Amino acid sequence: MPELPEVETVRRGLQPVLEGARLVKVEARRPDLRFPLPERFSERLAGKTITALGRRAKYLTMHVDDGPVLICHLGMSGSFRVENPETSDIPGVFHHERSKSSAHDHVVFDVVSPSSVRSRITFNDPRRFGFMLFAEGAPDAHPMLAGLGVEPTGNALDSSLLASLLKGRRAPLKAALLDQRLIAGLGNIYVSEALWRAGLSPLREAGTLAGSGKKAREQSERLAQAIRSVIADAIAAGGSSLRDYVQADGSLGYFQHSFAVYDREGEPCPKPGCGGHIDRIVQSGRSTFYCRTCQR
Ligand code: ZN
Repeated sequence: MPELPEVETVRRGLQPVLEGARLVKVEARRPDLRFPLPERFSERLAGKTITALGRRAKYLTMHVDDGPVLICHLGMSGSFRVENPETSDIPGVFHHERSKSSAHDHVVFDVVSPSSVRSRITFNDPRRFGFMLFAEGAPDAHPMLAGLGVEPTGNALDSSLLASLLKGRRAPLKAALLDQRLIAGLGNIYVSEALWRAGLSPLREAGTLAGSGKKAREQSERLAQAIRSVIADAIAAGGSSLRDYVQADGSLGYFQHSFAVYDREGEPCPKPGCGGHIDRIVQSGRSTFYCRTCQR
């Protein structure tokens, strides 16, 4: 499943094509994705001008003038393909190649830019775990988004906020970090990476970072910093790959090469001087990769 940095890369790839453009035609080629498409889906969007393309956690939000906000989730296998007379491009980078089979082209947006350039944006999703919904008011109030925690991007997530989120929690630190009501958009890959950067064990009790002592404060500071930097680095890596799409087919996992621990079971820990190896354990049914030598 794409994580927040991948979704943000998709947003940045679509933004120049969509923002300010007018939706000439919206075509739904089937009535549902994971959920049924909203009633009068095409009619309510056609003719509108897109004012902003936003993101909250792993949800994209398309705002139009005088209409509903389109909330879109890529699910497991969703992607957008951008085509105009010059190029064909799939913004975003993924671990698994994205489908180009037209059998899985489910929603097609035809847009025209203020300078009269026409583009076609096609949502392709073979497994159909993705979805599109309407929010009639502020998207943050929509049930899908209302309970989400703080974004791991920007400066909102600092050590004191992180400590207050973890305070009193007996769950393993990894499980707490995956809880979308605490931090929104942090997934399995980047939690493993952030914990390695912070030198903290995924198994330790989450609440231990909320103590009043100097050590707990240092640890929560290190973890807040690690979460922000791992996400920022991944977004930067995705962004720098965007310009290659015109030539490349824009498919395979770019971020994979920058993982320190994820999917590296048995390899030496890349932390200088550590000497340990990366272990894989299973927590709540999902793989955790970590170094038991330097992550305590
Ligand atoms: Zn290590």
